This record gives sequence, structure tokens and C-alpha cells, in this order.
Amino acid sequence: MILVNENYSKLKASYLFADIAKRVKVFQSSYPEKPIIRLGIGDVTEPLPPACVEAFHKAVDEMATRETFRGYGPEQGYEFLREAIAQNDFRKRGADISADEIFVSDGAKCDTANIQELFAQKLKIAVPDPVYPVYVDTNVMAGRTGKNTAGRYSGLVYLDSTQENGFVPPPPETPVDLVYLCFPNNPTGAVATKEQLAAWVDYARANKALILFDAAYEAFIRTPGIPHSIYEIPGAKSCAIEFRSFSKTAGFTGTRCAFTVVPKELAAYTQKGEAVPLHPMWTRRHTTKFNGVSYPVQRAAEAVYSREGKKQVKATINFYLANAKIIRKAFLKAGYDCTGGENSPYIWVNVKGGKSWDFFDRILHDAQVVITPGAGFGRDGEGFIRVSAFNSRTNVEEAMRRISAIL
Ligand code: PLP
Repeated sequence: MILVNENYSKLKASYLFADIAKRVKVFQSSYPEKPIIRLGIGDVTEPLPPACVEAFHKAVDEMATRETFRGYGPEQGYEFLREAIAQNDFRKRGADISADEIFVSDGAKCDTANIQELFAQKLKIAVPDPVYPVYVDTNVMAGRTGKNTAGRYSGLVYLDSTQENGFVPPPPETPVDLVYLCFPNNPTGAVATKEQLAAWVDYARANKALILFDAAYEAFIRTPGIPHSIYEIPGAKSCAIEFRSFSKTAGFTGTRCAFTVVPKELAAYTQKGEAVPLHPMWTRRHTTKFNGVSYPVQRAAEAVYSREGKKQVKATINFYLANAKIIRKAFLKAGYDCTGGENSPYIWVNVKGGKSWDFFDRILHDAQVVITPGAGFGRDGEGFIRVSAFNSRTNVEEAMRRISAIL
């Protein structure tokens, strides 16, 4: 008899964005004449940078002749891309990461989920609350949690990210084995300072724990001194894996390209306490279960690091950050506290004692704008909403005009 993975039944009944879509659909069918503006789901709206498009086209043309055609490439990614990443994203910032520590993939979402395969089943895992839901749900699927009661899974250590700690939780009092951190944060938009990350690195080293550091929004950092990579912190190479993505950096959400950094000195331990290096294990996993990102996509990603590419990426992100500024300003003017939106495309708004989903319904019904209820990201997200800066200037201005009028 084929037995089912019963852990799936522990997952909360529906996914946040499915709930939102359902409510929007009901509204739209009642008021089809009212145009809706979406500042909800975190998908980009601007096209690929022209430098990427040009490289993409050129690489597709290479696939069209026998002389330049490419079949299977190296599973970990082509050298040209791994080297460009190591040089531009790490070595230029003083982080000593080599090209062979970079694993190119088709997404940070799947990488943050798949990495769990390297670890034992029984682990003490810490996750921030609120949180990017993938970290939690994939641990539930893998059977690393108990049941969900009152919005929290037993077996997980929740790191409260609150207004009081500036949405950057400090390390817990008790030791844990695996910690998920994400900065700039989704959903709160908060960023961590060097000192705050150093406290986490010290904690991880002292407890032989591993940090999974998600830096998918790194390109939005503008404040000098805020670390772009955890490897800017001394000692992080021995206790952290970093996830990056071209999705938000360069509009690759539909094109798909990302990478994971697994330093060679990183280890996990056997029951007997013997250190086992993770780099060969992830190499084995990646080469066994993944056949590489397509050649044209990797060429398009490489173009992010060209002179033109860098300029174009910066301009697009500046455009989203200007949207974020408009959103922040409108909420602050209406008397609502906000974080994020300065080094992040997300603005996290305190709805002043109201419930997230009530505020969602109010904004949808009275302003026809879709935002994301903070409660969907965890118990500590209750009382907040997430507003995304990914949209056209016209839509952002119109959305904030409508919202300001009703607040
Ligand atoms: N990590 C975070 C924090 C995200 O918010 C997202 C997407 O929204 C991802 C990872 C997914 O990245 P990718 O498109 O590379 O799978």
C-alpha cells in the first residue's frame, strides 16, 4: 500500500496568496466596474534590463548553430557566471568567496527548501515571525514540526520580530541548530546592521549552529554600512549558507536564475560530533538532482554584472525605491508607523491596533487596492500590512491617492 506523507496534512489549509486571490475575485465579481490596483504579491513589474535581453538573444542564437550549440552544462553553473558572481557580489565587498563555492540554480525558493536534505531529521530550528512562508512550510512537509495550534507549529523556535526590536530579532537564549534569517526582510523590509549580524554569527559559532541567510533583496540596500552579504561578517564562512536571486535584482522572476553560496569550510556534525563538510554534500546533491540552468539564462544573468547591466539594474531598483518612498510618505502622513521601504521594496505598516485582514478588506473595498495582510506571515504579523513597491509609478500614485483619501 502506498503510504502518503501525512506531514502535508499539518499545513495550514490554504496559502496566503490564494486567500487574497479569493477575496479579490469575490470583490471583482460584485464590482466589475471598479479598477483594482495590486500592491500585494511581491512580483516585479519592470522588464529585464536591456543588457540582459541582448545577452539572452545572443545566447539563443548560439544555440542555433552546430558550432556554438550547448547541451548539458555544468550542474553548478557555468564558470563565467560563477566567477562574475564571486567577484562582483562578494570579493568586491571584502568577502572572500570563490567561484567554486557558488551553486547556480533556478530559484532561491527551491534552494532554501532543498538545502534541508543535508541535515538530520531531528533539529532545533529557529524561524523569524513574521516570516517568508517557504521556510516554515517546507520544514512542515519534511516532518520537522508538530501540529499547528493558534498559528504556530510545535517544535519550532519562533524569533519574535517586533516593533520593539526593530524587526531584527536577537539570538534566542537557548541553543538551536538551524536558523533562518532574511535581510532585507520579507515581509517587514527591515535590514540588519553589521553588529546585529555579528551577534548571530557569534551565536551560531558558539552553538555549532548553521545560519541560512536569505539575501534575495540585497540589491535594494542603499544605506552605507549595511552588510549586503553575511560573509562581510568575520567568521560567517564557518557558520552560514547564503541564498541570492536575480529575481528581484534584475527582474528574473519569470526567467529564473539564482544561486546559493556554500563555503568550503562549512561543516555539520555526526551524532558522534565529527565534522562533515557541507560543500561536497551540496555538490553531490546538486549534481545528482539538478541539471543546471539553461545557457541563455546564465548568459543573461552574467550581463547583470556588465557595465551597462549594473547601471540598468541600479536604475530599475531606484525606480522601485522611489515608489516605496511615495508609499511610506503617504502612510506616515496619515499617522501610520512604517518600517522598510528604504532598503527594501516592502513597506510594513502598523495598522494601529486593527486586525490585518480587516484592514485588507477595508483597503480593497474602499480604495480598490490589494495589499498583503501581515497576519499571513505569522502570528507577530497580526496588526500589520505589507505593501509592495513593485508597480508602475502611475499605479502607485493612484493607489496612494485613494488610500490617503480613506485613512
Ligand atoms: N526569498 C525571499 C525572501 C523571497 O521573498 C522570494 C520571493 O518572493 C524568494 C526567496 C524567491 O526567490 P526566487 O524567485 O529566486 O525563487
